[in-house]
Amino acid sequence: MSNHIIRISENALIQLCLSGLEAYSVPHKGVRKQKNRLETYGLLWGYEALIKGETKLYNVEFVSIDTSAKQDHASVDPSNQSLQLKGELITSFWPHYDFLGDVHTHPYEHYTDVLPIKGYNYSSTDIKRIEDNTVYWSIYNYRVGLVLTVSRLHSKPRRGLVQLDKSTIEFTLGKYRLW
Ligand SMILES: [Zn+2]
Repeated sequence: MSNHIIRISENALIQLCLSGLEAYSVPHKGVRKQKNRLETYGLLWGYEALIKGETKLYNVEFVSIDTSAKQDHASVDPSNQSLQLKGELITSFWPHYDFLGDVHTHPYEHYTDVLPIKGYNYSSTDIKRIEDNTVYWSIYNYRVGLVLTVSRLHSKPRRGLVQLDKSTIEFTLGKYRLW
């Protein structure tokens, strides 16, 4: 496997955290029962570059959150029409950006729920969603899949920013612990 680095711009990170925390904390109007702790789905836009001829850099410049996705506590179901529409618009008007992949959130009620089950990783359903639709995703050249896991802290965090493994960072924003 070739080396690769995923860089997430500050703008993309802010967009992602704000949308993820809104879905987590703010009850959603318009759904039959007002709900919070919902999953969120978004598309990643940016570009790919090669560093020193060997390492691929996937540069995520911004995130577009799918407002049409069906959001629930343990799932989020996006519409294919959203990627089609946004892909056409980006290609036409901002051709320096390219579709890189997608991101969704994993909301957990408690901080302590996450670590034992590694709730910051792709679930088997997440992997299946990509593997079962390889033809569809190849058309769009899917390259990057991210997860933002959100939980609430009930006391002060015992640690600051931690790199858990090669592809996971754990950090705190206010009363929320995120991965
Ligand atoms: Zn997931």
